[in-house]
Amino acid sequence: VGKRGNFVEFVVKIPKVKKWTGEICGDCNGSGKQKFLDLRRDCFHCEGTGKECIFDWQPAYAISASFTIFTTLARFPGIETSEPFPQLITVNTITGSDMHGGSLGGEYSIPFVKWLTSLFGTNSVPEMVQAMKIAYNRMLGLHKFDQFHFRASVDYESGWLNVSCPGNACGLNPVHGAGYDMKRGLGYEFDCHNVDTPIQQITLLAGLSALHDRARKEIKI
Ligand SMILES: [Zn+2]
Ligand SMILES: [Zn+2]
Repeated sequence: VGKRGNFVEFVVKIPKVKKWTGEICGDCNGSGKQKFLDLRRDCFHCEGTGKECIFDWQPAYAISASFTIFTTLARFPGIETSEPFPQLITVNTITGSDMHGGSLGGEYSIPFVKWLTSLFGTNSVPEMVQAMKIAYNRMLGLHKFDQFHFRASVDYESGWLNVSCPGNACGLNPVHGAGYDMKRGLGYEFDCHNVDTPIQQITLLAGLSALHDRARKEIKI
């Protein structure tokens, strides 16, 4: 955590969750092919590499837990600031190992939503997609078939932002009833669907960070 101007900046190095140990895959004994159902197909465990990989979840949970504490404390900071530039987004996270254990939500402010409306019709928000892919690739590695699960777009001219990342319909959407706030030119709340792991949470946070960075450059107050 560092301070720049009137802002506190929170920077986190994204951890590798999936690690190659340098040993041979015990499932296929290094052949890279399945032994059980279909000998021609790649081993599920090592994805055809024949090498052993392990999943080290601990750093991802630790980062998620730090965000959960930080976003809880930052919500009501108890400090007045003279900074004229408004806060654009609030985020809060939770950290748990059960289903929906990576849930997150928050609010997009009035100036931010006004800016989002200008992205309607461009059919995607490339910074967000790119940041999510980089984060996910670092943690888990990115497969060809995962590419299409990353989406971010403003789907209505009112500033309605939908975001998806790999998972079971995993992503961020405006809350029920947010459409009414958008119609009145207000900010709105967003929440998530099926964010079960800290990998998905960190991926979506990376996307929000990239979106925020772009907004902060483009919004003129
Ligand atoms: Zn294998
Ligand atoms: Zn669910």
